[in-house]
Amino acid sequence: DEGLQKTKENFFSKVSKAIAGKSTVDEEVLDDLEEALVTADVGIETTVAIIDRIEQRVVRDKYLNTSELNSILQEEIKEMLVGEASYDFTSDIPHKPYVILVVGVNGVGKTTTIGKLAYNFKKAGKSVLLGAADTFRAAAVDQLTIWSDRTGVPIVKQAMGSDPAAVAFDTVQSAIARGTDVVLIDTAGRLHNKAHLMEELSKIKRSVQKVIPGAPHEVLLVLDGSTGQNALEQAKHFTAATDVTALAITKLDGTAKGGVVLAIANQFKIPVKFIGVGEKMEDLLIFDKHEFVDSIFS
Ligand code: GDP
Repeated sequence: DEGLQKTKENFFSKVSKAIAGKSTVDEEVLDDLEEALVTADVGIETTVAIIDRIEQRVVRDKYLNTSELNSILQEEIKEMLVGEASYDFTSDIPHKPYVILVVGVNGVGKTTTIGKLAYNFKKAGKSVLLGAADTFRAAAVDQLTIWSDRTGVPIVKQAMGSDPAAVAFDTVQSAIARGTDVVLIDTAGRLHNKAHLMEELSKIKRSVQKVIPGAPHEVLLVLDGSTGQNALEQAKHFTAATDVTALAITKLDGTAKGGVVLAIANQFKIPVKFIGVGEKMEDLLIFDKHEFVDSIFS
């Protein structure tokens, strides 16, 4: 994909450099490859895991040609990453309404991702309702209202400063009354400390569960891929505070740091379901590990 161009160029130049002038995969090639992956934002932990796999391949296959290295890298990384099936907006929702709680730090692209999801669900013939439970910033509610207008999807909101859990409660109740298929709830991305975040998110969850036991059906954490290793840190923070079930990684257009997707997908064992490659509603891609790995390594 065009949106991954910079990441692709980055991987291509770094991996090429690591194998330049070499015909067989030896210790030096592996060292250089390790450095290439780390500097391409794959992260130490995931890089070490990848290099281990390549080393095992070298041992097993005895002689490994550098010309095969690229496709072996792709194979090993695909095997390492969780999640086989990719998302499908048109498939039947397992619960009605299907409640998705969207979490993440301010500025990562949470509101934009909600707008893109609303657009995609609606396009697939599903009715959608937005809940503006980030009541701390007027701008957050305004932004979500803009997306509501843009996508033609209704929104439930209350006055600034009102209780986010009350907004979430109203939203799911309204969704039931309207017979809505999918509910997308925006939350505040304040990161004071883990205890505070945990408390705030549990409160929202509990109020949703008063209306629909078993909801939210998905807790989607949005991360800004252009921040590289910082996105990894945020993922640590949020997964410790709440049960995150899916990930969306945004702003992969215009950054060479897309390697962080591999680090995040491997380290948290939570499926990456979406990637953002632009500001428009069409700029959301359903993540497929095969496509992603193919596109950054070739
Ligand atoms: P929030 O504070 O997390 O809700 O963030 P917003 O959704 O308001 O997004 C913050 C900024 O990032 C806005 O200017 C968005 O247009 C921009 N943005 C969001 N997703 C993407 C993306 O995938 N690519 C690019 N280039 N910009 C994005």
